[in-house]
Amino acid sequence: MKYISTRNKDIRVDSAQAISQGISMDGGLFVPEEIPVLGAEDFKYLSGVDYIERAAFVLKKYLTDFTEDEIYACVRGAYTGSFDNEIPAPILKTKNGVNILELWHGPTCAFKDLALQLLPYLLTTSAKKVSGGKEIVILVATSGDTGKAALEGFCDVENTKIIVFYPSDGVSAMQKLQMDTQKGNNVCVCAIKGNFDDAQTGVKNIFTNNDTAAILENNNMQFSSANSINWGRLVPQIVYYVSAYCDLLKNGEDLSGGFNIVVPTGNFGNILAAYYAKMMGVPVNKLICASNANNVLTDFINTGVYDRNRAFHTTISPSMDILISSNLERMLFELCDRDDKLVASLQADLSKHGKYEISGDIHKKFTELFFGGCCDDTATKETIGKYFGEQDYLSDTHTAVALNVYEQYIAKTGDNRTTVVASTASPYKFAASVLEALGKDLPDGEFETVKKLSATTNTAIPAPLAALENAVPRFKNLVEKQGMTSFVLKTLGI
Ligand SMILES: *Cc1c(COP(=O)(O)O)cnc(C)c1O
Repeated sequence: MKYISTRNKDIRVDSAQAISQGISMDGGLFVPEEIPVLGAEDFKYLSGVDYIERAAFVLKKYLTDFTEDEIYACVRGAYTGSFDNEIPAPILKTKNGVNILELWHGPTCAFKDLALQLLPYLLTTSAKKVSGGKEIVILVATSGDTGKAALEGFCDVENTKIIVFYPSDGVSAMQKLQMDTQKGNNVCVCAIKGNFDDAQTGVKNIFTNNDTAAILENNNMQFSSANSINWGRLVPQIVYYVSAYCDLLKNGEDLSGGFNIVVPTGNFGNILAAYYAKMMGVPVNKLICASNANNVLTDFINTGVYDRNRAFHTTISPSMDILISSNLERMLFELCDRDDKLVASLQADLSKHGKYEISGDIHKKFTELFFGGCCDDTATKETIGKYFGEQDYLSDTHTAVALNVYEQYIAKTGDNRTTVVASTASPYKFAASVLEALGKDLPDGEFETVKKLSATTNTAIPAPLAALENAVPRFKNLVEKQGMTSFVLKTLGI
Protein backbone atom coordinates (compact mmCIF):
# COMPACT_ATOMS: atom_id res chain seq x y z
CA MET A 1 0.00 0.00 0.00
CA LYS A 2 1.25 3.48 -0.87
CA TYR A 3 0.92 6.72 1.08
CA ILE A 4 0.07 10.04 -0.54
CA SER A 5 0.33 13.65 0.61
CA THR A 6 -2.91 15.43 1.52
CA ARG A 7 -1.67 18.43 -0.51
CA ASN A 8 -0.35 16.59 -3.56
CA LYS A 9 -1.49 13.12 -4.50
CA ASP A 10 1.42 12.75 -6.93
CA ILE A 11 3.73 12.41 -3.93
CA ARG A 12 3.41 8.68 -3.38
CA VAL A 13 5.66 6.69 -1.03
CA ASP A 14 5.85 3.40 0.88
CA SER A 15 4.91 3.31 4.54
CA ALA A 16 8.58 3.07 5.56
CA GLN A 17 9.26 6.33 3.75
CA ALA A 18 6.14 8.02 5.17
CA ILE A 19 7.08 7.00 8.72
CA SER A 20 10.76 7.87 8.54
CA GLN A 21 10.02 11.25 6.99
CA GLY A 22 7.09 12.10 9.31
CA ILE A 23 5.68 14.87 7.13
CA SER A 24 5.64 15.37 3.36
CA MET A 25 8.08 18.03 2.08
CA ASP A 26 5.12 20.00 0.64
CA GLY A 27 3.84 20.42 4.20
CA GLY A 28 1.03 17.90 3.63
CA LEU A 29 0.41 14.82 5.76
CA PHE A 30 0.77 11.25 4.53
CA VAL A 31 -2.40 9.18 4.31
CA PRO A 32 -2.93 5.63 3.02
CA GLU A 33 -4.01 5.51 -0.58
CA GLU A 34 -6.92 3.34 0.44
CA ILE A 35 -8.27 2.29 3.80
CA PRO A 36 -8.34 -1.49 4.29
CA VAL A 37 -11.69 -2.97 5.24
CA LEU A 38 -12.16 -5.86 7.67
CA GLY A 39 -15.09 -8.26 7.54
CA ALA A 40 -17.20 -10.04 10.15
CA GLU A 41 -14.87 -13.07 10.04
CA ASP A 42 -11.85 -10.88 10.76
CA PHE A 43 -13.51 -9.28 13.78
CA LYS A 44 -14.62 -12.67 15.04
CA TYR A 45 -11.05 -13.92 14.79
CA LEU A 46 -9.65 -10.80 16.45
CA SER A 47 -12.11 -11.08 19.35
CA GLY A 48 -10.48 -14.35 20.29
CA VAL A 49 -6.84 -13.23 20.30
CA ASP A 50 -4.74 -10.95 22.50
CA TYR A 51 -3.71 -7.34 21.96
CA ILE A 52 -0.41 -8.19 20.28
CA GLU A 53 -2.16 -10.35 17.69
CA ARG A 54 -4.79 -7.68 17.11
CA ALA A 55 -2.09 -5.06 16.64
CA ALA A 56 -0.09 -7.25 14.24
CA PHE A 57 -3.22 -7.98 12.21
CA VAL A 58 -4.11 -4.31 11.77
CA LEU A 59 -0.52 -3.22 11.13
CA LYS A 60 -0.09 -5.80 8.39
CA LYS A 61 -2.93 -4.19 6.47
CA TYR A 62 -1.25 -0.79 6.53
CA LEU A 63 2.48 -1.50 6.51
CA THR A 64 2.63 -3.77 3.49
CA ASP A 65 6.34 -3.08 2.92
CA PHE A 66 7.17 -4.57 6.36
CA THR A 67 7.72 -8.31 6.65
CA GLU A 68 5.58 -10.33 9.03
CA ASP A 69 8.65 -10.91 11.23
CA GLU A 70 9.33 -7.19 11.37
CA ILE A 71 5.75 -6.44 12.37
CA TYR A 72 5.79 -9.02 15.14
CA ALA A 73 9.14 -7.78 16.41
CA CYS A 74 7.72 -4.25 16.58
CA VAL A 75 4.47 -5.08 18.39
CA ARG A 76 6.05 -7.56 20.78
CA GLY A 77 8.76 -5.06 21.65
CA ALA A 78 6.20 -2.34 22.29
CA TYR A 79 3.52 -4.17 24.23
CA THR A 80 5.34 -6.83 26.22
CA GLY A 81 5.94 -5.84 29.82
CA SER A 82 5.70 -2.08 29.35
CA PHE A 83 2.10 -1.65 30.54
CA ASP A 84 0.99 -2.05 34.15
CA ASN A 85 -2.03 -3.98 32.97
CA GLU A 86 -1.81 -7.24 31.10
CA ILE A 87 -4.17 -5.71 28.55
CA PRO A 88 -2.70 -2.42 27.30
CA ALA A 89 -6.12 -0.89 26.53
CA PRO A 90 -8.72 -2.36 28.91
CA ILE A 91 -12.42 -1.47 28.91
CA LEU A 92 -14.24 -1.05 32.19
CA LYS A 93 -17.82 -0.14 32.81
CA THR A 94 -19.21 2.56 35.09
CA LYS A 95 -22.35 1.89 37.13
CA ASN A 96 -24.44 3.82 34.62
CA GLY A 97 -23.21 1.60 31.78
CA VAL A 98 -20.62 3.76 30.04
CA ASN A 99 -17.69 1.79 28.61
CA ILE A 100 -14.44 3.49 29.56
CA LEU A 101 -11.49 2.61 27.35
CA GLU A 102 -8.53 3.24 29.64
CA LEU A 103 -5.54 4.16 27.54
CA TRP A 104 -3.12 5.26 30.23
CA HIS A 105 -1.61 2.10 31.66
CA GLY A 106 1.74 2.64 29.94
CA PRO A 107 5.03 3.99 31.35
CA THR A 108 4.05 7.68 31.19
CA CYS A 109 0.40 7.33 32.23
CA ALA A 110 -1.24 8.89 29.15
CA PHE A 111 -2.74 7.41 25.99
CA LYS A 112 0.25 8.57 23.96
CA ASP A 113 2.15 5.50 25.21
CA LEU A 114 0.04 3.16 23.07
CA ALA A 115 1.52 4.81 19.99
CA LEU A 116 4.88 5.97 21.31
CA GLN A 117 5.96 2.63 22.70
CA LEU A 118 5.53 1.28 19.16
CA LEU A 119 6.73 4.21 17.05
CA PRO A 120 10.46 3.83 17.82
CA TYR A 121 10.31 0.25 16.53
CA LEU A 122 8.38 1.30 13.42
CA LEU A 123 10.72 4.19 12.82
CA THR A 124 14.00 2.31 13.22
CA THR A 125 12.68 -0.53 11.05
CA SER A 126 11.58 2.02 8.43
CA ALA A 127 14.86 3.92 8.56
CA LYS A 128 16.82 0.72 7.92
CA LYS A 129 14.77 0.24 4.76
CA VAL A 130 14.95 3.74 3.35
CA SER A 131 17.46 6.01 5.04
CA GLY A 132 20.66 4.10 4.58
CA GLY A 133 21.86 4.25 8.17
CA LYS A 134 21.35 7.97 8.69
CA GLU A 135 20.87 9.04 12.28
CA ILE A 136 17.22 9.94 12.91
CA VAL A 137 16.61 13.17 14.80
CA ILE A 138 13.16 13.26 16.33
CA LEU A 139 11.71 16.69 16.99
CA VAL A 140 8.63 16.89 19.18
CA ALA A 141 6.30 19.74 20.06
CA THR A 142 4.28 18.80 23.10
CA SER A 143 1.39 20.08 25.15
CA GLY A 144 2.71 17.81 27.89
CA ASP A 145 1.98 14.14 27.33
CA THR A 146 3.48 13.48 23.89
CA GLY A 147 6.86 14.79 24.99
CA LYS A 148 7.28 12.44 27.90
CA ALA A 149 5.85 9.46 26.03
CA ALA A 150 8.22 10.10 23.12
CA LEU A 151 11.24 10.54 25.44
CA GLU A 152 10.41 7.28 27.15
CA GLY A 153 9.87 5.48 23.84
CA PHE A 154 13.08 6.73 22.21
CA CYS A 155 15.32 6.72 25.30
CA ASP A 156 18.66 5.17 24.25
CA VAL A 157 17.21 3.76 21.02
CA GLU A 158 20.20 3.22 18.77
CA ASN A 159 20.83 5.66 15.95
CA THR A 160 18.24 8.16 17.15
CA LYS A 161 18.28 11.48 18.98
CA ILE A 162 15.22 13.20 20.37
CA ILE A 163 14.60 16.88 21.18
CA VAL A 164 11.35 17.89 22.88
CA PHE A 165 9.90 21.43 23.02
CA TYR A 166 7.15 22.31 25.48
CA PRO A 167 5.40 25.61 26.31
CA SER A 168 7.01 26.87 29.53
CA ASP A 169 3.71 27.79 31.21
CA GLY A 170 1.48 25.29 29.44
CA VAL A 171 2.10 21.96 31.15
CA SER A 172 1.19 20.54 34.56
CA ALA A 173 3.75 20.31 37.38
CA MET A 174 3.88 16.52 37.01
CA GLN A 175 4.28 16.71 33.23
CA LYS A 176 7.16 19.17 33.59
CA LEU A 177 8.85 17.00 36.19
CA GLN A 178 8.40 13.89 34.05
CA MET A 179 10.16 15.55 31.12
CA ASP A 180 12.86 17.48 32.95
CA THR A 181 14.02 14.34 34.77
CA GLN A 182 14.14 12.11 31.66
CA LYS A 183 17.10 9.73 31.56
CA GLY A 184 19.00 8.68 28.46
CA ASN A 185 22.04 9.72 26.44
CA ASN A 186 20.16 10.68 23.27
CA VAL A 187 17.48 12.94 24.79
CA CYS A 188 17.10 16.70 25.22
CA VAL A 189 14.23 18.80 26.58
CA CYS A 190 13.64 22.53 26.10
CA ALA A 191 10.88 24.91 27.23
CA ILE A 192 9.85 27.71 24.88
CA LYS A 193 8.38 31.12 25.63
CA GLY A 194 5.09 30.60 23.82
CA ASN A 195 2.16 28.22 23.70
CA PHE A 196 1.76 24.77 22.16
CA ASP A 197 0.77 26.14 18.76
CA ASP A 198 4.01 28.17 18.69
CA ALA A 199 5.98 25.01 19.49
CA GLN A 200 4.15 22.97 16.86
CA THR A 201 4.50 25.64 14.17
CA GLY A 202 8.19 26.04 15.02
CA VAL A 203 8.80 22.31 14.68
CA LYS A 204 6.85 22.09 11.41
CA ASN A 205 8.90 24.99 10.02
CA ILE A 206 12.16 23.30 10.94
CA PHE A 207 11.01 20.10 9.22
CA THR A 208 10.11 21.77 5.96
CA ASN A 209 13.10 24.13 5.77
CA ASN A 210 15.38 22.93 2.97
CA ASP A 211 18.48 24.68 4.32
CA THR A 212 18.21 23.00 7.70
CA ALA A 213 17.49 19.66 6.02
CA ALA A 214 20.68 20.11 3.96
CA ILE A 215 22.79 20.77 7.06
CA LEU A 216 21.50 17.53 8.56
CA GLU A 217 22.02 15.61 5.35
CA ASN A 218 25.67 16.74 5.30
CA ASN A 219 26.04 15.32 8.78
CA ASN A 220 24.39 12.02 7.87
CA MET A 221 21.27 12.88 9.86
CA GLN A 222 17.59 13.17 9.02
CA PHE A 223 14.64 14.71 10.86
CA SER A 224 11.53 12.81 11.72
CA SER A 225 8.48 13.50 13.81
CA ALA A 226 6.94 11.70 16.76
CA ASN A 227 3.90 13.98 16.70
CA SER A 228 0.61 12.66 15.41
CA ILE A 229 1.39 14.18 12.02
CA ASN A 230 3.48 10.98 11.63
CA TRP A 231 1.47 8.09 10.21
CA GLY A 232 3.40 5.79 12.55
CA ARG A 233 1.60 7.48 15.45
CA LEU A 234 -1.85 7.02 14.03
CA VAL A 235 -1.79 3.39 13.03
CA PRO A 236 -1.23 2.12 16.61
CA GLN A 237 -4.18 4.25 17.68
CA ILE A 238 -6.47 2.61 15.12
CA VAL A 239 -5.54 -0.69 16.76
CA TYR A 240 -7.09 0.19 20.11
CA TYR A 241 -10.42 1.15 18.58
CA VAL A 242 -10.51 -2.13 16.65
CA SER A 243 -9.55 -3.85 19.89
CA ALA A 244 -12.28 -2.01 21.82
CA TYR A 245 -14.87 -3.22 19.32
CA CYS A 246 -13.62 -6.79 19.71
CA ASP A 247 -13.95 -6.47 23.48
CA LEU A 248 -17.50 -5.12 23.17
CA LEU A 249 -18.33 -8.12 20.97
CA LYS A 250 -16.77 -10.42 23.51
CA ASN A 251 -18.64 -8.77 26.37
CA GLY A 252 -21.94 -9.33 24.56
CA GLU A 253 -22.81 -5.63 24.37
CA ASP A 254 -25.83 -4.55 22.35
CA LEU A 255 -24.26 -3.37 19.11
CA SER A 256 -27.35 -3.52 16.92
CA GLY A 257 -27.24 0.22 16.29
CA GLY A 258 -23.46 0.42 16.30
CA PHE A 259 -21.78 2.32 19.12
CA ASN A 260 -20.63 5.85 19.82
CA ILE A 261 -17.07 6.89 20.59
CA VAL A 262 -16.33 9.96 22.70
CA VAL A 263 -12.82 11.41 22.52
CA PRO A 264 -11.30 14.35 24.41
CA THR A 265 -9.64 16.10 21.51
CA GLY A 266 -6.74 18.46 20.88
CA ASN A 267 -4.71 17.78 17.77
CA PHE A 268 -7.47 15.56 16.33
CA GLY A 269 -5.17 12.52 16.24
CA ASN A 270 -7.01 10.24 18.62
CA ILE A 271 -10.45 10.88 17.18
CA LEU A 272 -9.10 10.59 13.64
CA ALA A 273 -7.89 7.09 14.51
CA ALA A 274 -11.47 6.29 15.59
CA TYR A 275 -12.69 7.56 12.23
CA TYR A 276 -10.23 5.28 10.38
CA ALA A 277 -11.45 2.37 12.52
CA LYS A 278 -14.98 3.18 11.38
CA MET A 279 -13.83 3.23 7.76
CA MET A 280 -12.24 -0.19 8.35
CA GLY A 281 -15.62 -1.64 9.27
CA VAL A 282 -15.93 -1.03 13.02
CA PRO A 283 -19.64 -0.14 13.43
CA VAL A 284 -19.23 3.35 14.88
CA ASN A 285 -22.34 5.49 15.00
CA LYS A 286 -21.30 9.00 16.11
CA LEU A 287 -17.83 10.29 16.78
CA ILE A 288 -18.22 12.73 19.65
CA CYS A 289 -15.48 15.34 19.69
CA ALA A 290 -15.00 16.91 23.13
CA SER A 291 -13.05 20.14 23.61
CA ASN A 292 -12.18 22.33 26.57
CA ALA A 293 -12.41 26.15 26.49
CA ASN A 294 -10.20 26.08 23.40
CA ASN A 295 -13.28 25.12 21.44
CA VAL A 296 -12.15 25.81 17.90
CA LEU A 297 -13.23 22.30 16.85
CA THR A 298 -16.68 22.59 18.42
CA ASP A 299 -17.28 25.78 16.46
CA PHE A 300 -15.91 24.19 13.32
CA ILE A 301 -18.19 21.17 13.57
CA ASN A 302 -21.17 23.41 14.28
CA THR A 303 -20.53 26.09 11.65
CA GLY A 304 -18.09 24.82 9.00
CA VAL A 305 -15.74 27.71 9.75
CA TYR A 306 -12.35 26.93 11.26
CA ASP A 307 -11.11 30.10 12.93
CA ARG A 308 -8.08 30.14 15.17
CA ASN A 309 -8.21 33.91 15.61
CA ARG A 310 -9.34 33.81 19.19
CA ALA A 311 -7.93 33.96 22.69
CA PHE A 312 -5.82 30.98 23.72
CA HIS A 313 -6.91 29.61 27.10
CA THR A 314 -4.62 27.84 29.54
CA THR A 315 -6.88 25.22 31.13
CA ILE A 316 -6.73 22.34 33.61
CA SER A 317 -6.73 19.95 30.62
CA PRO A 318 -3.50 21.30 29.08
CA SER A 319 -3.00 18.49 26.56
CA MET A 320 -6.03 19.87 24.74
CA ASP A 321 -4.93 23.51 24.78
CA ILE A 322 -4.55 23.68 21.02
CA LEU A 323 -5.97 25.99 18.38
CA ILE A 324 -4.40 24.39 15.31
CA SER A 325 -5.52 20.77 15.13
CA SER A 326 -3.04 19.32 12.66
CA ASN A 327 -4.80 16.07 11.93
CA LEU A 328 -7.98 17.78 10.86
CA GLU A 329 -6.15 18.11 7.54
CA ARG A 330 -6.38 14.35 7.05
CA MET A 331 -10.08 14.42 7.87
CA LEU A 332 -10.70 17.25 5.39
CA PHE A 333 -8.88 15.27 2.74
CA GLU A 334 -11.24 12.33 3.22
CA LEU A 335 -14.41 14.38 3.39
CA CYS A 336 -13.66 16.45 0.29
CA ASP A 337 -13.22 13.22 -1.67
CA ARG A 338 -9.44 13.46 -1.55
CA ASP A 339 -9.26 16.77 -3.39
CA ASP A 340 -5.59 17.63 -2.71
CA LYS A 341 -5.82 21.06 -4.39
CA LEU A 342 -8.70 22.04 -2.14
CA VAL A 343 -6.88 20.85 0.99
CA ALA A 344 -3.74 22.76 -0.04
CA SER A 345 -5.76 25.93 -0.54
CA LEU A 346 -7.65 25.59 2.76
CA GLN A 347 -4.38 25.02 4.61
CA ALA A 348 -2.89 28.05 2.86
CA ASP A 349 -5.88 30.09 4.09
CA LEU A 350 -5.23 28.78 7.58
CA SER A 351 -1.60 29.77 7.64
CA LYS A 352 -2.26 33.15 6.02
CA HIS A 353 -5.50 34.24 7.68
CA GLY A 354 -5.78 31.76 10.56
CA LYS A 355 -9.11 30.72 9.12
CA TYR A 356 -10.92 28.72 6.44
CA GLU A 357 -14.47 27.78 5.56
CA ILE A 358 -15.68 24.54 4.00
CA SER A 359 -18.60 24.20 1.60
CA GLY A 360 -22.08 23.23 2.75
CA ASP A 361 -21.71 19.77 1.22
CA ILE A 362 -18.54 18.95 3.08
CA HIS A 363 -19.89 20.45 6.27
CA LYS A 364 -22.94 18.20 6.01
CA LYS A 365 -20.69 15.15 5.82
CA PHE A 366 -18.87 16.35 8.92
CA THR A 367 -22.01 16.73 10.98
CA GLU A 368 -23.29 13.33 9.89
CA LEU A 369 -20.16 11.75 11.33
CA PHE A 370 -19.33 14.03 14.25
CA PHE A 371 -20.97 15.71 17.20
CA GLY A 372 -18.91 18.54 18.69
CA GLY A 373 -19.18 19.91 22.22
CA CYS A 374 -17.07 21.69 24.82
CA CYS A 375 -16.92 22.53 28.49
CA ASP A 376 -14.94 24.93 30.67
CA ASP A 377 -12.81 24.21 33.74
CA THR A 378 -15.67 24.64 36.19
CA ALA A 379 -17.82 22.08 34.37
CA THR A 380 -14.80 19.77 34.06
CA LYS A 381 -14.30 19.83 37.84
CA GLU A 382 -18.02 19.29 38.50
CA THR A 383 -17.91 16.24 36.24
CA ILE A 384 -14.91 14.78 38.09
CA GLY A 385 -16.75 15.21 41.40
CA LYS A 386 -19.98 13.78 40.04
CA TYR A 387 -18.40 10.71 38.44
CA PHE A 388 -16.41 9.96 41.54
CA GLY A 389 -19.40 10.43 43.82
CA GLU A 390 -22.05 8.69 41.74
CA GLN A 391 -20.15 6.21 39.57
CA ASP A 392 -17.10 5.43 41.67
CA TYR A 393 -15.00 6.44 38.70
CA LEU A 394 -12.04 8.75 39.19
CA SER A 395 -11.28 10.53 35.94
CA ASP A 396 -8.53 12.91 34.96
CA THR A 397 -9.31 16.40 33.68
CA HIS A 398 -9.22 15.44 29.96
CA THR A 399 -11.44 12.40 30.33
CA ALA A 400 -13.84 14.53 32.38
CA VAL A 401 -14.25 16.88 29.41
CA ALA A 402 -15.28 13.85 27.35
CA LEU A 403 -17.72 12.64 30.02
CA ASN A 404 -19.25 16.10 30.25
CA VAL A 405 -19.69 16.47 26.49
CA TYR A 406 -21.15 12.96 26.32
CA GLU A 407 -23.84 14.07 28.79
CA GLN A 408 -24.53 17.09 26.60
CA TYR A 409 -24.87 14.76 23.62
CA ILE A 410 -27.40 12.53 25.39
CA ALA A 411 -29.39 15.55 26.59
CA LYS A 412 -29.54 16.89 23.06
CA THR A 413 -30.20 13.70 21.11
CA GLY A 414 -31.62 11.16 23.55
CA ASP A 415 -29.28 8.64 21.93
CA ASN A 416 -28.45 6.12 24.62
CA ARG A 417 -26.87 3.36 22.58
CA THR A 418 -23.67 1.63 23.66
CA THR A 419 -20.86 4.15 24.01
CA VAL A 420 -17.11 4.04 24.52
CA VAL A 421 -15.38 6.99 26.16
CA ALA A 422 -11.63 7.25 25.61
CA SER A 423 -9.93 7.83 28.98
CA THR A 424 -6.68 9.48 28.05
CA ALA A 425 -4.64 10.08 31.21
CA SER A 426 -4.19 8.97 34.78
CA PRO A 427 -5.77 11.43 37.26
CA TYR A 428 -2.38 11.52 39.01
CA LYS A 429 -0.85 13.51 36.18
CA PHE A 430 -3.21 16.35 37.09
CA ALA A 431 -3.48 15.66 40.78
CA ALA A 432 -3.98 19.25 41.99
CA SER A 433 -6.94 19.92 39.69
CA VAL A 434 -8.52 16.56 40.44
CA LEU A 435 -8.14 17.01 44.20
CA GLU A 436 -9.71 20.46 44.00
CA ALA A 437 -12.55 18.99 41.96
CA LEU A 438 -13.22 16.63 44.86
CA GLY A 439 -13.57 19.65 47.14
CA LYS A 440 -10.30 19.18 49.01
CA ASP A 441 -7.72 21.78 50.02
CA LEU A 442 -4.38 21.55 48.32
CA PRO A 443 -1.34 20.75 50.45
CA ASP A 444 2.05 22.27 49.54
CA GLY A 445 4.10 20.30 47.04
CA GLU A 446 3.27 18.01 44.11
CA PHE A 447 3.89 14.75 45.95
CA GLU A 448 1.93 15.79 49.03
CA THR A 449 -0.92 16.48 46.59
CA VAL A 450 -0.51 13.12 44.89
CA LYS A 451 -0.50 11.31 48.25
CA LYS A 452 -3.56 13.19 49.44
CA LEU A 453 -5.39 12.26 46.24
CA SER A 454 -4.53 8.63 46.85
CA ALA A 455 -5.70 8.75 50.46
CA THR A 456 -8.90 10.62 49.56
CA THR A 457 -9.93 8.29 46.75
CA ASN A 458 -8.40 5.04 47.91
CA THR A 459 -6.70 4.59 44.53
CA ALA A 460 -3.07 3.71 43.87
CA ILE A 461 -0.43 6.16 42.64
CA PRO A 462 0.94 4.77 39.34
CA ALA A 463 4.46 3.45 39.94
CA PRO A 464 6.18 5.55 37.22
CA LEU A 465 4.86 8.74 38.85
CA ALA A 466 5.60 7.63 42.42
CA ALA A 467 9.20 7.01 41.31
CA LEU A 468 9.66 10.69 40.44
CA GLU A 469 9.40 11.88 44.05
CA ASN A 470 13.14 12.00 44.52
CA ALA A 471 14.23 12.47 40.91
CA VAL A 472 16.37 15.52 40.17
CA PRO A 473 15.63 17.65 37.05
CA ARG A 474 18.38 17.44 34.39
CA PHE A 475 17.07 19.97 31.89
CA LYS A 476 16.60 23.70 32.47
CA ASN A 477 16.64 25.02 28.88
CA LEU A 478 14.35 27.91 27.94
CA VAL A 479 14.38 29.62 24.52
CA GLU A 480 12.36 32.17 22.55
CA LYS A 481 10.21 30.58 19.84
CA GLN A 482 12.45 32.19 17.19
CA GLY A 483 15.40 30.40 18.74
CA MET A 484 14.25 26.84 18.11
CA THR A 485 16.29 26.14 14.96
CA SER A 486 19.56 27.31 16.49
CA PHE A 487 18.80 25.34 19.65
CA VAL A 488 18.38 22.20 17.57
CA LEU A 489 21.60 22.70 15.63
CA LYS A 490 23.53 23.52 18.80
CA THR A 491 22.18 20.42 20.55
CA LEU A 492 23.19 18.25 17.60
CA GLY A 493 26.63 19.88 17.58
CA ILE A 494 26.40 20.86 13.90
C1 LIG B 1 -2.79 14.41 23.71
C2 LIG B 1 -3.92 14.30 24.66
C3 LIG B 1 -5.26 14.55 24.26
C4 LIG B 1 -5.59 15.03 22.88
O1 LIG B 1 -5.38 14.05 21.90
P1 LIG B 1 -5.26 14.47 20.36
O2 LIG B 1 -4.86 13.22 19.65
O3 LIG B 1 -4.22 15.54 20.29
O4 LIG B 1 -6.60 14.97 19.95
C5 LIG B 1 -6.26 14.34 25.18
N1 LIG B 1 -5.99 13.93 26.44
C6 LIG B 1 -4.74 13.69 26.86
C7 LIG B 1 -4.50 13.27 28.26
C8 LIG B 1 -3.67 13.85 25.99
O5 LIG B 1 -2.42 13.60 26.42
